[in-house]
Amino acid sequence: MNPIAQAEAAGPADSSRLTIDLGALVGNWRHLARLAGQAETAAAVKGDAYGMGLEPTGTALERAGCRSFFVALPSEGLRLRRILPRAAIYVLSGLTAGNAPALAAASLRPVLGSIEEWREWSAYRAGGGRGEAALHIDTGMNRLGLSLDEARDVSTGDWRRQGLTLVISHLACADTPGHPLNETQLKRFRAGAALFEGLPASLANSAGIHLGAHYGFDLVRPGIALYGGAFQAGMPSLDVVAKAEALVLQVRDVPAGESIGYGASQTLRRDSRIAILSAGYADGYPRIAGSTDEQPGASVFLNGRRAPLAGRLSMDLMAVDVTDVPNVKRGDWAELLGANIPVDEVASIAGTIGYELLTSLGGRYERRYVGAA
Ligand SMILES: *Cc1c(COP(=O)(O)O)cnc(C)c1O
Repeated sequence: MNPIAQAEAAGPADSSRLTIDLGALVGNWRHLARLAGQAETAAAVKGDAYGMGLEPTGTALERAGCRSFFVALPSEGLRLRRILPRAAIYVLSGLTAGNAPALAAASLRPVLGSIEEWREWSAYRAGGGRGEAALHIDTGMNRLGLSLDEARDVSTGDWRRQGLTLVISHLACADTPGHPLNETQLKRFRAGAALFEGLPASLANSAGIHLGAHYGFDLVRPGIALYGGAFQAGMPSLDVVAKAEALVLQVRDVPAGESIGYGASQTLRRDSRIAILSAGYADGYPRIAGSTDEQPGASVFLNGRRAPLAGRLSMDLMAVDVTDVPNVKRGDWAELLGANIPVDEVASIAGTIGYELLTSLGGRYERRYVGAA
């Protein structure tokens, strides 16, 4: 055996790990399905299922009864199709030029997002092409979707013979229940969906589901709530799905007056014990969440206590102040995100949102899936 194969066989333990609780994921989906009532509950699994891993997530959700999935890209759709032969898979980026036959061959449904895409799709169908698609109507987000006028034009034509299975729109401000744009979009979507009588309609993401049953229509498309992220101001998140941990590589005593890490951004005010953890910004932990003399940063959780970051974090390492945490030693695990350190807490310190943090976690953690049915 060559030395690399030998090392692989021996399996040197990794020093950062990501545990994904598929039981919590499925529990969250079931909770949302109960809220959705009569509407079908689909799942948004774009961005590698918000960083949780497309295949394990897709498999667990399908086993729980999820029948429709939303990905961003055709490549994500293909990955999902390989493991879910029967699911309805919608591609939110829509129809890129010339792609209709390839999408149809894998039974991927483009969500047609402009009148150009609609024209290309209907020409493809008129030429004998097969396959199904959804139609996206813009109701105020001004990102993707046909205008209401364009949708009206489409609706006066032969749309019933173009393989349409769903009409959707997307809410811009559902995370803020009092925002007036929610009502405006709801009204516009009612008008838009009514143009396509008999076609199932879908408006709500995670936050939209919580705006009330009248936002549910025929199918809801939750994403972030499935993965335990915050979805709406004032609403608690559902069960935590991801736990990211890093190993304590060493613990050192650092006297008051010394600084820690690049740029000497934080000077210790007291004699301190500092633990060095094996994770950094290359693991998707935001660099800006470190501590400076001006501003404390995020915390990690170890041995039952919180420990604040000390100084700036590096690419692969971070220092945390464990002066007040008893018995920290080399080989302990520190929770970076999870039940004790909510992803949205770290995100907010870093000036971002849970969505961005989860999708940034990347491939360097040793991944473990637990709680699968
Ligand atoms: C991402 C996305 C969703 C899911 O949104 P969440 O806020 O994560 O629930 C639903 N619909 C569309 C069109 C999306 O792009």
